Amino acid sequence: MKYRLSDIARICGGSFAGSDSTVETVATDSRSLTCELGAAPLFVAMRGANHDSHDFLVQMRVRGVRAFLVERDVPAALCTEGCGYVRVGNSLAALQTLAAHWRSQFRGTVVGITGSNGKTTTTSLVYKILRDAGYNAALGGNIGESFAYSVATGRYDWYVLELSSFQLDGMYRFRADIAILTNITPDHLDRYGHCFQNYVDAKMRIVRNQHSRCAFIYSADDPVIAAELPKYDLRMRELPFAAKQAVASGAGDAFLCDGRFTAAVGCASVEVDTAKMRIGGLHNAYNAMAAALAALAAGGPPVQVRKSLYAFAPVEHRLEPVGEYGGVEWINDSKATNVDSVWYALESMKRPLVWIAGGTDKGNDYGPLKEFAREKVHTLVCMGFDNEKLLGEFTGVVPRIVSA
Ligand code: ADP
Repeated sequence: MKYRLSDIARICGGSFAGSDSTVETVATDSRSLTCELGAAPLFVAMRGANHDSHDFLVQMRVRGVRAFLVERDVPAALCTEGCGYVRVGNSLAALQTLAAHWRSQFRGTVVGITGSNGKTTTTSLVYKILRDAGYNAALGGNIGESFAYSVATGRYDWYVLELSSFQLDGMYRFRADIAILTNITPDHLDRYGHCFQNYVDAKMRIVRNQHSRCAFIYSADDPVIAAELPKYDLRMRELPFAAKQAVASGAGDAFLCDGRFTAAVGCASVEVDTAKMRIGGLHNAYNAMAAALAALAAGGPPVQVRKSLYAFAPVEHRLEPVGEYGGVEWINDSKATNVDSVWYALESMKRPLVWIAGGTDKGNDYGPLKEFAREKVHTLVCMGFDNEKLLGEFTGVVPRIVSA
């Protein structure tokens, strides 16, 4: 915390005397005061039933304290060499007022990212752009530190948070100043009573508590989100992004056409050629549009937004190229854990494919994958817990299936 003594007097309704200075910490117990720490302390003198710490002002002064919150005047002989004090009627009440003021002041700006797929990539993109642009930003939530830990241990101006539906379920007063909803497709239904609407409601909690100065970035191509929007009283700036049909929002938007997109927020806009990005596929174009809108909404310089998008390397296990051997390129996309993410992974493939599928079937509907499988996959290797369903669904769709 950092407060001028004169500001403390104003906040607490006290009178200020002596020299003004900035304090960085508060001490109420003369015995535990450690001025050696270097932080400029404010010594708050309080009266209890059996003690009165105004009796220790001289001691505190000798130990180097120069700022006091007191209920009576500090003697002129002590108030020398840059020393100053705030006099209030009740120092405990004043301290409480100061603490409440500090809490209300201390709030970094939060960019919250959720969606069924693309959370980690989009979160990492936003974080990279903001850091590259010199923002004092923390990465947290599902990746990096927990939000609470970074708030408690660091002093950041920006928090870029990946938020799962489970985290959103437990958030009531939380507000994302800039919210991103990448998409909503069936996932984790086992945790939502096998009711898709419950899961949708959880995802939509990202807009909770948003007000007119906040921004909401979402996929305008997503039919589930489109069906949800009319149910909410949205007062924030809406910043949709799309690739299927052009969108127009007064506050800003992004649209992908022939591999290029323009993202605009207010007067700021950036043009991006997705062929120059190191992450490929339509899904990453969506993620990049969302991240660009968030960065522009955060006041990021357009030139930096483009530069960072071009420099961003694939996140581990997300369509991550792991090597090329004998003309075969190996790609690790083990984070594609639902049908929709596999659809986008297959969509992005430009060469004939050996598809290695594994994991546990979550009641998946593989229908949407068959068109790409027919067109691009020459061998499907099934390494799942139970391959029966995959074998049944893809026999006759791909030329060769191996069950491992
Ligand atoms: P999440 O954190 O939501 O699991 P990731 O960014 O880790 O998402 O990506 C996981 C996988 O999901 C990727 O490897 C890719 O196959 C797929 N994916 C990424 N972004 C999207 C998107 N916007 N839409 C659909 N699928 C995506």
